[in-house]
Amino acid sequence: MELYVHIPFCVRKCRYCDFLSMPADEETRNRYVEALCHEIEYYGKVFKHSSQREAGNEKETIFSGSQQIETIYFGGGTPSVMGAEALVCILECIRNSFDVIEDAEVTVEINPATIDKNGLQNLRENGVNRLSIGLQSANAEELKLLGRIHDYEDFLSVFSDAVEVGFKNLNVDLISSLPGQSVKSYLESLEKVIALKPEHISAYSLILEEGTPFYEVYSQRPDLLPDEEEDREMYHLTKEKLGEAGYGRYEISNYAKPGFESKHNSGYWKRIPYLGLGLGASSFMNHTRWKNISDLKEYLQIWGQTDFENNGDFVRCGQEKEADGTGKCCPIYEEYERLTLQDEMAEYMYLGLRMSEGVSLERFEACFGRKMPEVYGDVLKKLAEQGLLVIEQQKDRVYLTDYGMDLSNYVFEKFLIL
Ligand code: SF4
Repeated sequence: MELYVHIPFCVRKCRYCDFLSMPADEETRNRYVEALCHEIEYYGKVFKHSSQREAGNEKETIFSGSQQIETIYFGGGTPSVMGAEALVCILECIRNSFDVIEDAEVTVEINPATIDKNGLQNLRENGVNRLSIGLQSANAEELKLLGRIHDYEDFLSVFSDAVEVGFKNLNVDLISSLPGQSVKSYLESLEKVIALKPEHISAYSLILEEGTPFYEVYSQRPDLLPDEEEDREMYHLTKEKLGEAGYGRYEISNYAKPGFESKHNSGYWKRIPYLGLGLGASSFMNHTRWKNISDLKEYLQIWGQTDFENNGDFVRCGQEKEADGTGKCCPIYEEYERLTLQDEMAEYMYLGLRMSEGVSLERFEACFGRKMPEVYGDVLKKLAEQGLLVIEQQKDRVYLTDYGMDLSNYVFEKFLIL
């Protein structure tokens, strides 16, 4: 199983961002750590309780199954604004509550100018072995336009500090197709990052998310954004330059040196169960997806003061939620959905096909008791004829071609409308 821990705080809101994140004072951040630790302890008990039920042959719950934690991912927001001590304290709480495997991948998202060398060292000494650094662009104008709090020098400083304190698995995030960005300017950012030789690079195209200042401006003025042709050129250059530099593209927007693919993110695309902790965090296990409440005040109130000794309550609560169908009886979730077989098969396809290795025909059958060509035969045939997908029966693989990756949204829709 994987753990995701959401830290919803940032120094200030970037202009393109629609993530669940906000600025917060120190007192609120401290209360959040306390509440989060209660939540972690609570779920630790729930999983233990669940395995005792299994051992006693009692009815399974959505928390049944393996409790070993293979990856932990601190995302946000900006986890590094909490300070290294708080993150280490949360990590300790996780280790006390769950069975974390010895070589678990432990990632923390950090932003330049929010953590110093001592903080990085503290994280490294306490078992964090992967950092994901939000650079987004190496160009001063572009960073300013995005509303980022850092400049390129801040990034260089945090990157070299991370290397010096012993991190050997670093990711750098980049965004292309920014307003006013030329292909040349994007290429400069990309080449600067490649020169630093991080183990992993995530390169996304900007998406205008409704409700953001960027959406307000640029949905009215698309002429200020790179046009389709430039956008495609940046996308193809990313693939080309990173390939030349020895990075394998293992997912539509993710590239890694061999052996440094993100285990946590790969688990998500492979539908490995995960538990989301913290404000608005999502979880998936045993045919069920749910999402924690995203109102900070409510979250702090519920997890800040409740005594969760009766650890059967919310397990039951989830089941009641299914039965009454209103989604209102349980105070800790704002969404809760039992997936149908159809949902799960579609998810298996459109999540798995994001990865270059694609999906396995045998695993599909083992998971769902039906053969993939029986369920999706017509779609697969049509996509293969269009040159978007390859079916290799002998190698037990179905995967997208480069062209299919370019048109991935079109491909994924085909599995959704069945
Ligand atoms: S730092 Fe990241 S999460 Fe925070 S506002 Fe900026 S883009 Fe959003």
